[in-house]
Amino acid sequence: MKLRKVTAASAAVLALSVAATACGSDKKDDGGSSGSGGSKIKIGIKYDQPGLGLKEPDGSYSGFDVDVATYVAGKLGYKPSQIQFVETKSADRENALSRGDVKFIAATYSITDERKQKVDFAGPYLLAHQDLLVKKDSDISKGTDLNGKKLCSVTGSTSAQNVQKTIAPKANLKEYSGYSECIAALQSGAVDAVTTDDSILAGFAAQDKYKGQFKLAGLKLSNENYGVGVKKGDTATINKINDALKSMVSDGSWQKAVEKNFGPAHYKNEPAPTIGKIVQ
Ligand code: GLU
Repeated sequence: MKLRKVTAASAAVLALSVAATACGSDKKDDGGSSGSGGSKIKIGIKYDQPGLGLKEPDGSYSGFDVDVATYVAGKLGYKPSQIQFVETKSADRENALSRGDVKFIAATYSITDERKQKVDFAGPYLLAHQDLLVKKDSDISKGTDLNGKKLCSVTGSTSAQNVQKTIAPKANLKEYSGYSECIAALQSGAVDAVTTDDSILAGFAAQDKYKGQFKLAGLKLSNENYGVGVKKGDTATINKINDALKSMVSDGSWQKAVEKNFGPAHYKNEPAPTIGKIVQ
């Protein structure tokens, strides 16, 4: 009899603590959607793009997008220790936002009409241009030189789309899931060129392991307006992020982040864009 009572009592305690845990994890696991000051915020970045979004061997993160994300999160009320970065590859970004896996994405994410069907954007916060990266001794210097050549880009990127539509429809396009794979293929000779934003290509070309091996064509094949992606309809967050981006530029943090992250790659970035103004 006594034993049974104890069991019933501990079952009640257990039920309570399970309920409490469920509540707690609900709060934590919302990508930060409970608004400012929540316990953690999940932010989508790239993990393999030096100078923009890179997961370092020691587990830390570096790059311009990381600095933008950290600054924005600060303005939303989150300290760096409350940020949980999540890898969002080019093809995964819209889904990650729709599912609520992350509160926002800062991952070389170009604002396009097609993407705006599924997600919303704050920004733009950087203007880049599509370019080609080839081996130092290559004679590929323009789109038509790519006819029949193996060209690498990434699934779900505007870079791959532009190749097929305009830049080099006759190239043999290989689509990988990340740019680091394309660069490794360029080094090994498995592909003849890599195409994506000049900001990204410059970062790879300057890495110690590739130094002196590649060259950028410098073609400015497109305008890539980087936005901060948010879940469709989350206007409150967009407004807060736009305010944060404006103050990042006006207080000098934007310029500092540019010099710190693009300086080593000698990437000549465009001046800070005007929030809300897309360069076509
Ligand atoms: N900025 C382009 C895009 O959003 C290319 C870089 C990337 O794949 O992240 O598709």
